[in-house]
Amino acid sequence: MNIHEYQAKSLLRDYGVPVSDGRVVTRAEDAKRAASELDGPLWVVKAQIHAGGRGKGHFMESGAGEKGGVRLAKSTSEAEEMTRQMLGRTLVTHQTGEAGKQVNRIYIEDGSDIETELYLALLVDRGTSRVSFVASTEGGMDIEEVAASTPEKIVSFSVDPASGLSDFHGRRVAFALGLKGQQVKQCVKLVRDLYRLFLEKDMEMLEINPLIVTTDGNLKALDAKMGFDNNALYRHDDIFALRDETEEDPKELAASKYDLNYIALDGEIGCMVNGAGLAMATMDIIKLYGAEPANFLDVGGGATKEKVTEAFKIITSDENVKGILVNIFGGIMRCDIIAEGIVAAVKEVGLKVPLVVRLEGTNVEKGKEIINTSGLDVIAADDLKDGAEKIVKAVKG
Ligand code: GDP
Ligand code: MG
Repeated sequence: MNIHEYQAKSLLRDYGVPVSDGRVVTRAEDAKRAASELDGPLWVVKAQIHAGGRGKGHFMESGAGEKGGVRLAKSTSEAEEMTRQMLGRTLVTHQTGEAGKQVNRIYIEDGSDIETELYLALLVDRGTSRVSFVASTEGGMDIEEVAASTPEKIVSFSVDPASGLSDFHGRRVAFALGLKGQQVKQCVKLVRDLYRLFLEKDMEMLEINPLIVTTDGNLKALDAKMGFDNNALYRHDDIFALRDETEEDPKELAASKYDLNYIALDGEIGCMVNGAGLAMATMDIIKLYGAEPANFLDVGGGATKEKVTEAFKIITSDENVKGILVNIFGGIMRCDIIAEGIVAAVKEVGLKVPLVVRLEGTNVEKGKEIINTSGLDVIAADDLKDGAEKIVKAVKG
């Protein structure tokens, strides 16, 4: 789960990390008062979406002004004007994809005077099973680009969980960032605070880009991005409360409500499968026969008819889906339950694309009978290979 910049900064503040004072608004009418509560004379007006690259992004609509989703205002009226221009509009950045994201909240922040922009991130490194620090002097830019063109400017190391974090790590970061004197001390504290926050909240990723040195020589987090381990959210009610469902893929959101393991992908063949391994194999074989899966979907072992119906509705709601492959190996999951779910879903939402069904295992005869007597236009398949071949042929001809 990801959160907004203003929420991330509130957490940083709680853990003693220096950030600017700011106010979040959802209505342009509130912008002027919010800005006047801050010191000035410079304000930053920042679109809140779950994607980076806002500063260099652009809005889809005319009337949103010329510049991107991070703007500097020299008066409270200008801050209000910028808020009005951005709210409700769709911001496109290199991380949102072409469709962009609608801006529903604006964060108005006290402007900082920047001496240098640096980069600092913590993440779970699955290679070493440790928390890694990534630091670079090339802050404020796209770190992927820095990694590609000047990898020597990125310093990375991981922390041994047995011995934990020590000031040595903080000094290593300070050295990598080219910090001097007082800033080294600030950096050692910053690294400690960030590490504690990262561990205590079960984060997957914490990125500060840019971390700045202000013109008066102090460190400050100017932007913040945080991702949390979904499997640990059950023990962080405070973090879970920060969830913004409008930022999530509507199909993935619906799936999460029904406890379905669903991931939207870019292809044209919708898949409904039970078991993560079989779902992976189904996606592989679709690719092998020359098409691309539109989703990963594991309906799980103990799915009910309602759950299967919902899963089928989610697949058919995807405009990219040109055909559906149902691939079920009934173990705990019974084939007749799947069949009933499919029939119920099609009755409710209709079926506009070819549907290939392969059923095997527990109650397979009963399942096939339900499908056969339902009057649905279903292409039956005998095995995984047959199913994949048939759906690819039905879609691609
Ligand atoms: P992003 O584009 O989504 O990563 O948004 P950021 O919060 O990182 O802002 C983008 C850029 O705007 C930063 O790299 C800075 O150059 C600039 N910026 C952001 N806040 C301030 C500020 O307080 N003062 C000044 N002068 N520039 C800022
Ligand atoms: Mg940034």
